Amino acid sequence: MGKLYLVATPIGNLKDISYRAIEVLNSVDLIAAEDTRRTLKLLNHYEINKPLISYYRHNEDVKSKILIDKIKEGMNIALVSDAGTPVISDPGEEVVRDCIKEGIEVVPIPGACALITALISSGLNTKEFSFYGFLSVNKKYKREKLEEIGKDTKTCIIYEAPHKMIQTLKDILDVIGDRNIVVARELTKVHEEVLRGKVSEIIEKYTNPIGEHVILIEGNSISEKEEEINELNKLSLEDHYSYYEKQGMSKNDIIKRIAKDKNVSKNDIYQQFLQK
Ligand code: SAM
Repeated sequence: MGKLYLVATPIGNLKDISYRAIEVLNSVDLIAAEDTRRTLKLLNHYEINKPLISYYRHNEDVKSKILIDKIKEGMNIALVSDAGTPVISDPGEEVVRDCIKEGIEVVPIPGACALITALISSGLNTKEFSFYGFLSVNKKYKREKLEEIGKDTKTCIIYEAPHKMIQTLKDILDVIGDRNIVVARELTKVHEEVLRGKVSEIIEKYTNPIGEHVILIEGNSISEKEEEINELNKLSLEDHYSYYEKQGMSKNDIIKRIAKDKNVSKNDIYQQFLQK
């Protein structure tokens, strides 16, 4: 029985590949690639001459079975994506799962990965982070995901296509607010650029996003309590009042709490009620 090797390839700079990755690509019987023409460029650069088979998102289930059969016959196969680490926002999950089911050894060969490369240069919290991959093209699902990201206290990482960058930055501003973000563009390439600032500042600077981008959003530092108060302060005075009333609080305590929420005096709140 052969093995499945998951081989990370460069995300731009062709030198960002490990000795081990080259060794494995030189030793396997077959290389499964997302786009065989793109992979061929890399293989030619390193003078690696191996047969290629295409493996992309829309043929994953069929191709996975073919690869498994070949591995069972004794072939060693390397899976690569167009760039970076395979299986991360790239095809491969299916064949990895199938291999595990069939008792086939899966060997990861680590290397460049856009999200990690962006994160380490971001200056944001690296101790805890959440990777969200590509956001949905469906507006409703995209908004829901951004709402989830807005509440996340960890550094949030998103992959985005260049033609959607401006719209996504505007959506972030609209749903999450003017948070600190980092846009890491064309990493490891000639036009590498890492922009840091508030979403509004980045939108202003960023009129023509060309190339590949990773967006990183600073984690939410507002506690759940503060979030709740922000939401309550958006209500009318009557609704704010009835929210606490339903909790069984006395009239006096409710006025005190509303004053505290709004950071004004108790008297201000009384006056506002009197004017109604
Ligand atoms: N599996 C790859 C990885 O994790 O490294 C990512 C593949 S995904 C299909 C492609 C996305 O990764 C791009 O749309 C972009 O968001 C990000 N990306 C890839 N290369 C990049 C680079 N050189 N600079 C910035 N972002 C990059």
